[in-house]
Amino acid sequence: MRTGLSLSARQWEKMRRHVTGCAPLEACGLLAGKGCRVESVFFVANAAQSPVRFRMDPQEQLKTFNQIEARGLELVGIFHSHPAGPERPSPTDVAEAAYPVVHLIWFVDGEAWRARGFWIEAGRVSEVDLYILRSE
Ligand code: ZN
Repeated sequence: MRTGLSLSARQWEKMRRHVTGCAPLEACGLLAGKGCRVESVFFVANAAQSPVRFRMDPQEQLKTFNQIEARGLELVGIFHSHPAGPERPSPTDVAEAAYPVVHLIWFVDGEAWRARGFWIEAGRVSEVDLYILRSE
């Protein structure tokens, strides 16, 4: 189990713009890196095209997994957005969590988009710390 994940401010902003641009539909993607450090952010199309669910396009997901492997990185996180809330994993997210990685949930807090990180294992959810590094 991981207790934290570090991202650069640039990666954070890249994700934020993507989830904002996809709203009111849910957006999703993959985070590749090493250990607790994110090195690359990948967007994956939401095949469900829904405001309340996501399902990664299988072909894009496979292509991204191949790119991650080709770069010598590992999958360290999965992100998706909840344009209509909640600010934590939904029961469906918990039931469908298939990878032992940090799950980032983007949500709207008033006017601002924020994200929280969670570890989901065997139906249990615990929050993990997200560290935004100011410079690279
Ligand atoms: Zn969700």
